[in-house]
Amino acid sequence: MNTPAAVPAKPYHRDFLREVEAQVEGGEWVKMCMQCGVCAGSCPLGRHWEHTPQKLFMMIRAGQREAVLRSDAMWMCTSCYNCVVRCPRKLPITTLMHGLAAYSHRLGLAPKMQPTRDFSLRFLGNFARAGRVNELKLTLGLYFKDGFAAGVRRGWEMRHVGLGLLRSKRLNPFELFRGHRCKDAKGIQAMLAKAQEIEARRRKQA
Ligand code: SF4
Ligand code: SF4
Repeated sequence: MNTPAAVPAKPYHRDFLREVEAQVEGGEWVKMCMQCGVCAGSCPLGRHWEHTPQKLFMMIRAGQREAVLRSDAMWMCTSCYNCVVRCPRKLPITTLMHGLAAYSHRLGLAPKMQPTRDFSLRFLGNFARAGRVNELKLTLGLYFKDGFAAGVRRGWEMRHVGLGLLRSKRLNPFELFRGHRCKDAKGIQAMLAKAQEIEARRRKQA
Protein backbone atom coordinates (compact mmCIF):
# COMPACT_ATOMS: atom_id res chain seq x y z
CA MET A 1 0.00 0.00 0.00
CA ASN A 2 1.24 3.47 -0.86
CA THR A 3 2.02 5.73 2.03
CA PRO A 4 1.39 9.45 1.40
CA ALA A 5 5.15 9.99 1.14
CA ALA A 6 5.39 7.38 -1.63
CA VAL A 7 2.87 9.16 -3.91
CA PRO A 8 4.83 11.52 -6.15
CA ALA A 9 3.64 15.10 -5.90
CA LYS A 10 2.31 16.58 -9.13
CA PRO A 11 4.75 19.16 -10.47
CA TYR A 12 3.54 22.73 -10.85
CA HIS A 13 2.98 23.82 -14.46
CA ARG A 14 4.62 27.19 -14.63
CA ASP A 15 3.60 27.94 -18.22
CA PHE A 16 0.31 29.49 -17.19
CA LEU A 17 1.93 31.53 -14.42
CA ARG A 18 4.35 32.92 -17.01
CA GLU A 19 1.47 33.65 -19.37
CA VAL A 20 -0.38 35.55 -16.63
CA GLU A 21 2.79 37.47 -15.76
CA ALA A 22 3.18 38.54 -19.38
CA GLN A 23 -0.44 39.17 -20.36
CA VAL A 24 -2.42 40.19 -17.27
CA GLU A 25 -2.14 43.59 -15.61
CA GLY A 26 -0.50 43.01 -12.21
CA GLY A 27 0.23 39.38 -13.18
CA GLU A 28 3.84 39.59 -12.00
CA TRP A 29 2.48 39.74 -8.43
CA VAL A 30 0.78 36.32 -8.40
CA LYS A 31 3.95 34.49 -7.32
CA MET A 32 4.11 36.70 -4.21
CA CYS A 33 0.87 35.24 -2.79
CA MET A 34 1.56 33.15 0.32
CA GLN A 35 -1.94 31.64 0.46
CA CYS A 36 -2.75 33.10 3.86
CA GLY A 37 -6.45 33.43 2.95
CA VAL A 38 -6.87 36.97 4.30
CA CYS A 39 -8.28 38.19 0.96
CA ALA A 40 -10.78 35.33 0.82
CA GLY A 41 -11.89 36.06 4.38
CA SER A 42 -12.08 39.82 3.78
CA CYS A 43 -14.02 39.81 0.52
CA PRO A 44 -17.63 40.74 1.34
CA LEU A 45 -18.89 38.62 -1.56
CA GLY A 46 -16.22 35.95 -1.84
CA ARG A 47 -18.19 33.22 -0.11
CA HIS A 48 -20.75 33.41 -2.91
CA TRP A 49 -18.13 32.88 -5.61
CA GLU A 50 -16.78 29.63 -6.91
CA HIS A 51 -13.19 30.92 -6.68
CA THR A 52 -11.93 33.49 -4.17
CA PRO A 53 -8.83 35.52 -5.15
CA GLN A 54 -6.69 33.23 -2.96
CA LYS A 55 -8.00 30.19 -4.82
CA LEU A 56 -7.52 31.79 -8.23
CA PHE A 57 -3.89 32.60 -7.48
CA MET A 58 -3.27 29.04 -6.30
CA MET A 59 -4.94 27.69 -9.48
CA ILE A 60 -2.77 29.94 -11.68
CA ARG A 61 0.37 28.53 -10.06
CA ALA A 62 -1.00 25.01 -10.42
CA GLY A 63 -1.48 25.57 -14.18
CA GLN A 64 -5.29 25.31 -14.18
CA ARG A 65 -5.59 27.62 -17.19
CA GLU A 66 -9.02 26.59 -18.45
CA ALA A 67 -10.69 26.67 -15.02
CA VAL A 68 -9.24 30.10 -14.21
CA LEU A 69 -10.06 31.76 -17.52
CA ARG A 70 -13.57 30.32 -17.63
CA SER A 71 -14.34 31.28 -14.03
CA ASP A 72 -16.82 34.07 -13.49
CA ALA A 73 -15.33 35.01 -10.08
CA MET A 74 -13.18 37.85 -11.37
CA TRP A 75 -16.26 39.40 -13.02
CA MET A 76 -17.92 39.64 -9.60
CA CYS A 77 -15.26 41.87 -7.99
CA THR A 78 -16.83 45.16 -6.89
CA SER A 79 -13.48 46.97 -6.48
CA CYS A 80 -14.11 47.57 -2.79
CA TYR A 81 -10.34 47.17 -2.07
CA ASN A 82 -10.96 45.40 1.26
CA CYS A 83 -8.57 42.64 0.22
CA VAL A 84 -5.89 45.06 -1.01
CA VAL A 85 -5.62 46.98 2.27
CA ARG A 86 -5.35 43.73 4.23
CA CYS A 87 -3.08 41.59 2.07
CA PRO A 88 0.19 41.14 4.04
CA ARG A 89 2.09 40.80 0.75
CA LYS A 90 0.51 43.96 -0.72
CA LEU A 91 -0.74 42.23 -3.87
CA PRO A 92 -2.81 44.52 -6.16
CA ILE A 93 -5.66 42.01 -5.95
CA THR A 94 -8.35 44.25 -7.44
CA THR A 95 -6.16 45.07 -10.45
CA LEU A 96 -5.44 41.37 -10.86
CA MET A 97 -9.13 40.42 -10.72
CA HIS A 98 -10.01 42.94 -13.43
CA GLY A 99 -6.88 42.03 -15.40
CA LEU A 100 -7.87 38.34 -15.41
CA ALA A 101 -11.42 39.24 -16.48
CA ALA A 102 -10.11 41.40 -19.35
CA TYR A 103 -7.68 38.67 -20.45
CA SER A 104 -10.34 35.94 -20.45
CA HIS A 105 -12.56 38.29 -22.48
CA ARG A 106 -9.75 38.95 -25.01
CA LEU A 107 -9.30 35.19 -25.45
CA GLY A 108 -13.05 34.64 -25.88
CA LEU A 109 -13.15 32.34 -22.82
CA ALA A 110 -15.22 34.54 -20.49
CA PRO A 111 -18.68 33.18 -19.63
CA LYS A 112 -20.90 34.70 -22.35
CA MET A 113 -23.95 35.43 -20.25
CA GLN A 114 -22.07 36.72 -17.21
CA PRO A 115 -24.10 39.84 -16.24
CA THR A 116 -21.14 42.09 -15.34
CA ARG A 117 -19.42 41.31 -18.63
CA ASP A 118 -22.66 41.92 -20.52
CA PHE A 119 -23.20 45.24 -18.77
CA SER A 120 -19.58 46.35 -19.33
CA LEU A 121 -19.85 45.73 -23.07
CA ARG A 122 -23.20 47.55 -23.32
CA PHE A 123 -21.90 50.47 -21.27
CA LEU A 124 -18.73 50.86 -23.36
CA GLY A 125 -20.62 50.59 -26.68
CA ASN A 126 -23.23 53.09 -25.50
CA PHE A 127 -20.60 55.53 -24.24
CA ALA A 128 -18.33 55.25 -27.29
CA ARG A 129 -21.12 56.14 -29.75
CA ALA A 130 -21.84 59.65 -28.42
CA GLY A 131 -18.99 60.31 -25.97
CA ARG A 132 -21.45 60.14 -23.12
CA VAL A 133 -23.80 57.52 -21.72
CA ASN A 134 -27.39 57.59 -22.92
CA GLU A 135 -29.00 56.19 -19.78
CA LEU A 136 -32.39 55.63 -21.37
CA LYS A 137 -31.01 53.51 -24.20
CA LEU A 138 -28.71 51.65 -21.82
CA THR A 139 -31.58 50.84 -19.45
CA LEU A 140 -33.95 49.78 -22.24
CA GLY A 141 -31.21 47.62 -23.76
CA LEU A 142 -30.89 45.83 -20.42
CA TYR A 143 -34.64 45.44 -19.96
CA PHE A 144 -35.14 43.95 -23.43
CA LYS A 145 -32.00 41.80 -23.62
CA ASP A 146 -34.02 38.63 -22.95
CA GLY A 147 -36.77 39.41 -25.47
CA PHE A 148 -39.77 41.67 -25.90
CA ALA A 149 -42.08 40.07 -23.31
CA ALA A 150 -39.37 40.07 -20.62
CA GLY A 151 -38.60 43.72 -21.44
CA VAL A 152 -42.23 44.80 -21.09
CA ARG A 153 -42.47 42.90 -17.79
CA ARG A 154 -39.34 44.56 -16.40
CA GLY A 155 -40.53 47.98 -17.56
CA TRP A 156 -43.86 47.44 -15.82
CA GLU A 157 -42.13 46.33 -12.61
CA MET A 158 -39.99 49.49 -12.65
CA ARG A 159 -42.76 51.87 -13.70
CA HIS A 160 -42.73 53.75 -10.37
CA VAL A 161 -39.03 54.53 -10.72
CA GLY A 162 -39.53 55.64 -14.34
CA LEU A 163 -42.48 57.89 -13.46
CA GLY A 164 -40.56 59.41 -10.56
CA LEU A 165 -37.64 60.20 -12.89
CA LEU A 166 -40.02 61.73 -15.45
CA ARG A 167 -41.71 63.92 -12.84
CA SER A 168 -38.40 65.16 -11.47
CA LYS A 169 -37.20 65.83 -15.06
CA ARG A 170 -34.37 63.31 -14.70
CA LEU A 171 -35.68 61.30 -17.66
CA ASN A 172 -36.34 62.69 -21.12
CA PRO A 173 -38.14 60.22 -23.44
CA PHE A 174 -36.80 62.10 -26.50
CA GLU A 175 -33.31 60.91 -25.57
CA LEU A 176 -34.41 57.69 -27.22
CA PHE A 177 -34.50 59.33 -30.67
CA ARG A 178 -31.87 62.02 -30.55
CA GLY A 179 -29.76 61.72 -27.45
CA HIS A 180 -27.21 64.27 -26.30
CA ARG A 181 -23.73 63.93 -27.68
CA CYS A 182 -20.69 65.32 -25.94
CA LYS A 183 -19.13 68.31 -27.73
CA ASP A 184 -16.27 66.27 -29.10
CA ALA A 185 -17.55 62.71 -29.51
CA LYS A 186 -15.03 62.10 -32.31
CA GLY A 187 -12.24 63.17 -29.93
CA ILE A 188 -13.42 60.63 -27.34
CA GLN A 189 -13.58 57.93 -30.02
CA ALA A 190 -10.05 58.80 -31.16
CA MET A 191 -8.87 58.64 -27.54
CA LEU A 192 -10.40 55.18 -27.07
CA ALA A 193 -8.87 53.95 -30.33
CA LYS A 194 -5.46 55.26 -29.24
CA ALA A 195 -5.76 53.56 -25.85
CA GLN A 196 -6.58 50.26 -27.60
CA GLU A 197 -3.62 50.70 -29.95
CA ILE A 198 -1.22 51.37 -27.03
CA GLU A 199 -2.60 48.36 -25.14
CA ALA A 200 -2.20 46.08 -28.21
CA ARG A 201 1.40 47.29 -28.68
CA ARG A 202 2.17 46.71 -25.01
CA ARG A 203 0.82 43.15 -25.22
CA LYS A 204 2.90 42.40 -28.31
CA GLN A 205 6.04 43.51 -26.53
CA ALA A 206 5.29 41.40 -23.45
S1 SF4 B 1 -4.22 38.11 1.29
FE1 SF4 B 1 -2.55 38.35 -0.19
S2 SF4 B 1 -1.03 36.81 0.38
FE2 SF4 B 1 -2.93 36.29 1.46
S3 SF4 B 1 -3.95 34.78 0.09
FE3 SF4 B 1 -4.73 36.81 -0.45
S4 SF4 B 1 -3.40 37.53 -2.12
FE4 SF4 B 1 -2.35 35.83 -1.10
S1 SF4 C 1 -11.76 44.25 -4.25
FE1 SF4 C 1 -12.91 42.57 -5.21
S2 SF4 C 1 -11.82 40.69 -4.57
FE2 SF4 C 1 -11.16 42.36 -3.21
S3 SF4 C 1 -12.48 42.23 -1.41
FE3 SF4 C 1 -13.43 43.71 -2.82
S4 SF4 C 1 -14.85 42.49 -4.09
FE4 SF4 C 1 -13.46 41.05 -3.05
